[in-house]
Amino acid sequence: MDSFYFTNIAPQMENFNRAMREGLCCLLLDGPTQECDEAFGVTSEQTTRPSCTGAHPDNGFMPDAQFPHPITGQLFPSPVPPGTGWPGDEADASTPVAHTSDEVASLAGSAPHLAELDARITVCRACPRLVTWREEVANKKRASFAAQPYWGRPGAGFGDPDARVLVVGLAPAANGANRTGRMFTGDRSGDWLYAAFNRAGYAGQASSEHAGDGLELTDLRIIASVRCAPPDNKPTTEERRTCAPWLDRDLQFAEPNLYSILALGSIGWDSTLAAARRLGWDVPRPKPKFGHGAVALLQNETRQVKLVGSYHVSQQNTFTGRLTEQMLDAAIGLLAP
Ligand code: SF4
Repeated sequence: MDSFYFTNIAPQMENFNRAMREGLCCLLLDGPTQECDEAFGVTSEQTTRPSCTGAHPDNGFMPDAQFPHPITGQLFPSPVPPGTGWPGDEADASTPVAHTSDEVASLAGSAPHLAELDARITVCRACPRLVTWREEVANKKRASFAAQPYWGRPGAGFGDPDARVLVVGLAPAANGANRTGRMFTGDRSGDWLYAAFNRAGYAGQASSEHAGDGLELTDLRIIASVRCAPPDNKPTTEERRTCAPWLDRDLQFAEPNLYSILALGSIGWDSTLAAARRLGWDVPRPKPKFGHGAVALLQNETRQVKLVGSYHVSQQNTFTGRLTEQMLDAAIGLLAP
């Protein structure tokens, strides 16, 4: 079963809602029928039809429900179909979708520019467990966000495309970036991180509530080791491996301007070192050890890149005092070119 990414969504939404309410989505599992075409308002001239997950009100999945985006007020279902107007969405219905690790490698390696890379990442479906989880979370929602649409797709990079500083996190949070569609946006971790970037002059505002809130980053771009929200924030080794080509390509695009990288947590640290090795950079051996404030110097073709480690801004660290604002500021202070 595939997701319900479909074309011509706006004029057909009303019919789609009716089809879902009446259970016609089940018919689509065996391919579109005339009955489905009538329900969806597909005309004989159209060559594309909506498709669906096979989800149905009976199994608790209600993709017909639409909610207003907190900033723009535009209505969206959860997950958000590509190219339907979500702030910052680079993808559309024609964006190629990776369904396997080989396809991730191929589509990442052939992405011609950063915007297309971001677009391809946000429609990726190569890890079945993570696709199921991110969409389940997007559909069921946390009670406090029940009136909002959830992005429910992988997270693209966010920030200055010509940045000299990269930040490599772990993965989107289930009710954070998986809801808002923007890295570290809409949760406590993001509050901490963007406040610190604001103090350091990288972020134009100290808060990050929703995509479309006007936040701009200067000289800094945020990416992640894994682009889908994982259950318990724990991607498997195979999922990290499958997602790695997106990170490699991001690093390649960043390379001409790159001076420093902030790795949030040991997974961000290890992923960055592994990506640097795959790209042929000179990485110290034995592998530099992660720690808060740890620094490793990596050499690419043109310059030395400073890798700085920081404890992750997860609540587990910030609530317990393992990571303080002063400690985070100090690590960010090491990034200056
Ligand atoms: S984790 Fe990465 S490779 Fe896996 S589905 Fe998400 S974006 Fe694709």
